[in-house]
Amino acid sequence: MKWAIIGASDIAASRVIPAMREAGQEIYGVLSSNLDRSIKYANENQITHYTTDLDELLQWPIDAVYISTTNDLHAAQAIAAAKAGKHILCEKPIAISISDGRSILAAAKENNVTFATNHHIRTSGVHQKIREIVKSGKLGKIYLSRINHAVALPERLQGWRLNGGNKGAGVVLDITVHNIDTLRAALGSEIVEVTALTSSNGLAEEGIEDTSNCTFRFANGVIANTTECFLIPFNTTTFEIHGSLGSLVATNVMTQDPIGEITVTDKNGSHIVEVNDHENLYVKTVRQFEKAITGEGEPLASGQDGFASMQGALAALKSAKEKRTVAINEVELI
Ligand code: NDP
Repeated sequence: MKWAIIGASDIAASRVIPAMREAGQEIYGVLSSNLDRSIKYANENQITHYTTDLDELLQWPIDAVYISTTNDLHAAQAIAAAKAGKHILCEKPIAISISDGRSILAAAKENNVTFATNHHIRTSGVHQKIREIVKSGKLGKIYLSRINHAVALPERLQGWRLNGGNKGAGVVLDITVHNIDTLRAALGSEIVEVTALTSSNGLAEEGIEDTSNCTFRFANGVIANTTECFLIPFNTTTFEIHGSLGSLVATNVMTQDPIGEITVTDKNGSHIVEVNDHENLYVKTVRQFEKAITGEGEPLASGQDGFASMQGALAALKSAKEKRTVAINEVELI
């Protein structure tokens, strides 16, 4: 399995390239928009080929591309890769407009290539266990859910995420998309409407939110609240699901690592749920991606999953901007 890396990014260097290698996969080359950066990045990451030209990259002897450029570039790069017959693992949000998101899914379908989204959180053993518990019915009928996902954005990532310039900045496109994906996967339902508040507390440029609070109504009736922030250094993230027969509270689970603890409280009291799967989230993602492109099952998060999380995030941004509840299909036209 040979990859090309589109985007000389932090996430590729810190998580995804090591995961590909751990899964026994090869990295053929890397693309950066800047020649010096592509050479430096290739050297630092022991990659033999580099280019600044996407067409050249798509001629390389590769099976798939991993796209982790800024959010504004994902769509055009994914569509070009699909047209060249390359399978695609794309970072979230898959695009920053509904029409681009739709064009990506259409291009992947037309060219018969796999398009997957790197929603790593749902791949964690802890989250798989949470889904098992919900599906088993142990919590009864679910009414409420809540995700607290406030972090301190590391200094090295305080670039395009915080400034205008249409690169897809802001905490909603960065973190809320993951929370939406986590909720969709656990609740097995789709968003119907959202009410959101956002604020800018000085970290990001004026007009770019660094803090958000979103309330989603799902088709199965569950109301879920998510909080996101780039400015909170000492938080422990949590994911709660509350039902008629039990409440589940998972701590330290909105993370890139295979960690966290689940507590279920029901008529028998509170107990910690054992989780045995602590495999690296990114290794799981690329291993299953390889299986999917050879016809063995589906990616852990599909293109449709990436589309739905992007759509929910765009609806939240629209709600915050217009100070009203927004139905999910209102963003179809953006
Ligand atoms: P980076 O800022 O590290 O990289 C994004 C782009 O910025 C790169 O493609 C690169 O452009 C450019 N860039 C990087 N370093 C420099 C530099 N020193 N000077 C100028 N330009 C530079 O972003 P992230 O890795 O944080 O995010 C990339 C994507 O991955 C985003 O879509 C993000 O949402 C997603 N992401 C996903 C995570 C996950 O766990 N699923 C976690 C973190 C991010 P070029 O390629 O042209 O060199």
